[in-house]
Amino acid sequence: MQISFFGAAREVTGSCNLLEAGKHKILIDCGMFQGSDFNEGKNSDPLPFNPAELSAVIVTHAHLDHTGRLPLLIKGGFDGYFYATPATVELTQLVLEDALEVMVYNNRKFGSPILYSQEDVAGVMGRFKAVEYGETMCLPLPRPPLIKGRGNVRLPLNKGEEQEGVGMTMYDAGHIFGSAFVEIEAEGKRVVFSGDIGNVDVPILKDTEPLMENIDALICESTYGNRLHESAAQRQDIIEKFVKEAIARGGTLMIPSFSLERTQELLYILNDLTDRKHKLPRVPIFLDSPLAIGATKVYRKYPRYYDEDAVKLFNEGDDLFEFPGLTMCDTKEESKRINQVPNPKIIIAGAGMMNGGRILHHALRYLTDEQSTLLIIGYQAQNTLGRQILDGKSPVRVMAENIPVRCSVQAIGALSAHADQEKLLDWMGGGKMLPKKVYLNHGEPEASDGLAARLKEDFGVKATVVNLGLSVKV
Ligand SMILES: [Zn+2]
Repeated sequence: MQISFFGAAREVTGSCNLLEAGKHKILIDCGMFQGSDFNEGKNSDPLPFNPAELSAVIVTHAHLDHTGRLPLLIKGGFDGYFYATPATVELTQLVLEDALEVMVYNNRKFGSPILYSQEDVAGVMGRFKAVEYGETMCLPLPRPPLIKGRGNVRLPLNKGEEQEGVGMTMYDAGHIFGSAFVEIEAEGKRVVFSGDIGNVDVPILKDTEPLMENIDALICESTYGNRLHESAAQRQDIIEKFVKEAIARGGTLMIPSFSLERTQELLYILNDLTDRKHKLPRVPIFLDSPLAIGATKVYRKYPRYYDEDAVKLFNEGDDLFEFPGLTMCDTKEESKRINQVPNPKIIIAGAGMMNGGRILHHALRYLTDEQSTLLIIGYQAQNTLGRQILDGKSPVRVMAENIPVRCSVQAIGALSAHADQEKLLDWMGGGKMLPKKVYLNHGEPEASDGLAARLKEDFGVKATVVNLGLSVKV
């Protein structure tokens, strides 16, 4: 068995791994690279494999950095199936359509490329097979090529090939709604791809399922491989404190938020703080993100993925994502109307790393305002606007304008969607049942190296931090 890493190597975006076992060529995720531009130049590069030769594509979760290049597979001739949990299937459609809209907008404004068409997105959605957590699927071999000149007739499989099965099972990763880590069994070996692993005690989501024993190789994310988050128990108190302070300053509180998960968590916490506990002064709160509004509908549809607390509230009839004072802004007109609402007010808008989306319109207006606050609640990849502001840069480029940052800039880690170093080490069995081989991806170099060092010091495991294009035999 061979595994190759074609993205998220010493960085946190562009996840794309290829597993080859016998005639099977299975791709795990095919995400977009994201940096200073929404649509990084690297995404236009030819794929380092032939999509037409793939036998199956597994999607761990709907985040753009894991799904954004899926339509390129269809464009490149892939005609097999994509596998994901039902929630991931629905969220992926929203994410890809949103990405296409942003690409079309950026193309009109700045001439940046449009990677794929609406037909390519439809092609992906038409080839999805939904798989529930814990259900083992037998992945098919690549479809034999069409016989030339004979319409849709395909060459028959060779004798015995039907038996060369590869088993695939998804487990709840607790990272975003529908997220999974994936176990693949082939050639008598077991390999696990972590996708992204969630933080501890995340509102709404169930806990990450434990990693199984006797794994031959683990491919693990390391976004926060060298960092520790604030404790989950303090999460709500921290939000309360920051929101109260921002309201007291009298300006606008801007919260750039990832449309999947962070936003719903934030709504869930704000619902609790305002509607149930009455701890926050009543100020207008705007959710200015069509993608987040669409995603929230998917959350409502699958209460079976909720954790115990959320199920309890849901059964009591509490609307988890709505409360007095909250306005959902779907259309551009609704978005523009936010400007007319006097301060103090709270605006939650995408994109989470400020590399696109409606948050930019608000940033243009309020970054220069000393009374306003920018509250960063998620990971900010290198070169993104969010990262530049977090690192203290001023002025910054916002929609082709130089804008000085005069507002208060705050950041909290407790709302991160990713496991920190302790959680990752715990998940890997706390040293008791370690995988035989560990490959670390999806982390900036210091983060991946930090986790590799801990694995060596604490458990005596030599973990490999993967480089782009590396292929390993398992
Ligand atoms: Zn993710």
